[in-house]
Amino acid sequence: MSVLFVTSEHAELVKAGGLGDISAALPRALRDEGCDIRLLMPAYPAVLAKVRPVTIVAHRRGRGAIPPYLIGATEVSGGVPLYLAIAPTLFQRDGSAYGGPDGLDHADNDIRFACLSLAAADICAGLPRLGWRPDILHAHDWVSGLAPAYARWSKLPVRTVMTIHNIAHQGLFPYERLHDLCVPADSFRTDGLEFHLHGSFLKAGIFYSDHLTTVSPTYAEEITEESHGGGLHGLIEGIAAAGNLTGIPNGIGEEWNPRHDHYLPVRFDQTDLEAKHEVAELIRTALCLEPSEGPLFGIVSRLVHQKGFDIVAEVADRIVAKGGQIAILGTGDPQVEAMLLDLSRRHRGKIGLMVGFNEPMAHRIIAASDFFLMPSRFEPCGLTQMQAQRYGTLPIAHRTGGLADTIEDDETGFLFAPLTAERLSEAIDRAFAVFADPDRFDAMRRTAMAKDFSWSGPARAYKALYGRLTDETSKPAQRPHSLVVVPKSRTAAAAKVA
Ligand code: ADP
Repeated sequence: MSVLFVTSEHAELVKAGGLGDISAALPRALRDEGCDIRLLMPAYPAVLAKVRPVTIVAHRRGRGAIPPYLIGATEVSGGVPLYLAIAPTLFQRDGSAYGGPDGLDHADNDIRFACLSLAAADICAGLPRLGWRPDILHAHDWVSGLAPAYARWSKLPVRTVMTIHNIAHQGLFPYERLHDLCVPADSFRTDGLEFHLHGSFLKAGIFYSDHLTTVSPTYAEEITEESHGGGLHGLIEGIAAAGNLTGIPNGIGEEWNPRHDHYLPVRFDQTDLEAKHEVAELIRTALCLEPSEGPLFGIVSRLVHQKGFDIVAEVADRIVAKGGQIAILGTGDPQVEAMLLDLSRRHRGKIGLMVGFNEPMAHRIIAASDFFLMPSRFEPCGLTQMQAQRYGTLPIAHRTGGLADTIEDDETGFLFAPLTAERLSEAIDRAFAVFADPDRFDAMRRTAMAKDFSWSGPARAYKALYGRLTDETSKPAQRPHSLVVVPKSRTAAAAKVA
């Protein structure tokens, strides 16, 4: 089974969120399951700085507005082969994978990620110097959404899987860019990649791939509904009805293990949780929190509207009044950052905020905390609630998406719904009650820590899916997915998410 895994992040090289973790861990786990899996990602400066020497395996000519590019071969730790789309004018830039140092997305992200997708199609078509072609092309999120489409348009002999990690990011581009992106004009229709008079990378991936997956069973159901489907729910409903949508939860890697976490000053496991107090002391000092015997609530997150921290702001007075403290690490939307900064100023010594992306601090806050706040409006899978449970930190989370699938209410954490300050308050009260009952608190923490969040289960599920798809290869011509017509009334919600 050979698989090309196309992504824009890799935790060891460049990471903006969960996709980076998944792209590092899932291929390794799939390799352990016997898959010949290889990665493809853009050659960002941080990638070139960290990988072993790169061998150029192809020179590709420019097409549309996509400049000439190279395909390089190297490997990442653990010996997983890594191919790179090398286009210095597109990828050799300061900032994150998606935007400049000012935090704004690059205006030519469509060209950049079309280049990545074209490189994927090149590899699927077979590059003489590579001597390798995948059975499966596995694309992730909008950034590689055009890859299954290019493969389909070129009638390449490869089965394609598209995984949605977050439907809120769709990669829209104007009609005028079709030629620039090498997209055939006749694909610009409802039964194609058109989305409200724009082209959509994500819709292209969904529409033209053979199978669609997302990262939890609950989110797989949610995206067939108007409230969570980002305007694509009609299409996805049709795909689900045809049996071509699967929800496979993510796992977390062994780097998230309190027994040998090198970011912690002291290590611990379920047999001895005392060391958590020591890490908590460190965090209280680092975030200027007063010494306290009360519970510590942690937040490690992108600070964006999706994550629901405006609801936390509404209940913060109550947490503090009951003797709790909040340690926050995150970066993102300046408005959300400002709101939390204001909150921490109002509760000096009780609520501490560290703005930034800081891997060691993420591990320490998750290890130090008693409870972990995740009032996400939607959460395709979520990783931090699993990381928290593995460290004996009980998540308090909105019952949505992967949070509903990976937390057992009152056993390994606290779930609440609907997403209101009142319901969050009730969940927090339940957490305070458990904190006041050390035996129960300990039992819950140990149950959470004993859960299996490893990647081996998800890897087996993906491998089984790949196997089903390649078994179907002998079947007659692949058909584009059927479309469920979306009534006009649904389009307002669609436009909002887009
Ligand atoms: P999302 O992908 O929506 O950002 P996830 O919970 O799926 O959310 O994954 C977030 C990942 O990024 C986790 O591994 C988490 O520990 C990490 N993370 C989030 N914010 C920060 C931060 N400010 N510093 C370091 N790591 C972070």
